[in-house]
Amino acid sequence: MPASSGAGGSGRRPAGPGLYVHVPFCAAKCGYCDFASVPSGSADSVAGGRHERFVDSVLRRARDLAREEGIGPFATVYVGGGTPTLLAPPLLGRLIEGLRALAPGAEEITVEANPESLDRERLAVLEVSGATRLSLGAQSLEDAALAAAGRRASAADARKALGLLAARWKGALSVDLMSGLPGGTPEGLALSAREALAAGARHVSLYELTLEEATPLARAVGAGTVSLPDDGLRGETHAAVEAVLAGAALFRYEVSNWASRGSECLHNLNYWAAGEWVGAGPSAAGQKRLPGGGVRRRSAPASIDRFLADPADGETVELVSPRDAFFEALMLGLRTVRGVDLRGLEERFGAPAARLALDFAASRPDALAFAGGAIAPTSRGMDILNPVLVALGELVERRFPVGPGTAAAGA
Ligand code: SF4
Repeated sequence: MPASSGAGGSGRRPAGPGLYVHVPFCAAKCGYCDFASVPSGSADSVAGGRHERFVDSVLRRARDLAREEGIGPFATVYVGGGTPTLLAPPLLGRLIEGLRALAPGAEEITVEANPESLDRERLAVLEVSGATRLSLGAQSLEDAALAAAGRRASAADARKALGLLAARWKGALSVDLMSGLPGGTPEGLALSAREALAAGARHVSLYELTLEEATPLARAVGAGTVSLPDDGLRGETHAAVEAVLAGAALFRYEVSNWASRGSECLHNLNYWAAGEWVGAGPSAAGQKRLPGGGVRRRSAPASIDRFLADPADGETVELVSPRDAFFEALMLGLRTVRGVDLRGLEERFGAPAARLALDFAASRPDALAFAGGAIAPTSRGMDILNPVLVALGELVERRFPVGPGTAAAGA
């Protein structure tokens, strides 16, 4: 089989269980967004408002879930959304300090920020309260693309935020970019990547716009008032950004993520390793591994009012069978340059299941390689992963070994 992707492998390994908190407030709704977030003005930020009740509720729920699920100690914390930095500075500080108390040994505490809500005061609060890493949702520094996508922040807002971050967060900064936005150009997004790197980003997530049904952007595209870049232009944009990132010695360690060695996101590495985590907040989900290979997944409903009334109300618990958990572990692990550790598969799912994965990898030398005890995608494999996973899914469906060496489905 061919050597693996040639990127040299990821420098960091998953560090252990994570704690995710979803902050469901945004300044305004972006045109393409179907995440669980609602527009929420700064008036909400004052004492007694929904933001304050949310912070207290989510801290309480995170603590209770950690105890009920028996997950911890947490190696990482990730505060996402929504827009966590929309919270007023005292509330933002209270949230991060509270999470720090729940995860005293955490190696990484990431907070997502949007350009329009970031200022010196909030940055100072984040630093003092213990955040170790910031993830800026810039998406692009092209005004035409930002406006067409219904983003609130302008390119000037993003540059201002990058300027503030450059002063103190160099090396602990991740920037999200999005290709496929209407009006976006390869040169414009490549320049956005250059500016992010110049501000000190050592981690860049490059996502492709997904047109979600029932969003304003999907309606505008459907009505023909907005057009999206074609496949050729999207490919060119991706290649242009990738060239900039490679030029700055960032390597692609996951399908949509690039980092310099040592700057990979530990929290997400745990997701891709199909590890364990607690998720607190509206629409958040967490998972616990079960003996025999299955998984228990607990998810909260998206309603903010319901969460504020009772943070545990309406949670659902799903038992994922060993077969489905096996496929998920492969599907997630194969997104990363590190791949899936064969011994880990064997320990969780049994030797026959590990053999099935190895045989599949041997049948797809165009996309997968086995080296250093792991099955990993080749460089080309990362680009053609979807059809490979479809074929893998069909094989697992037909041939996942049930019997001695693997447990029955569920808990
Ligand atoms: S900032 Fe993010 S979560 Fe908020 S509306 Fe825009 S895309 Fe959605």
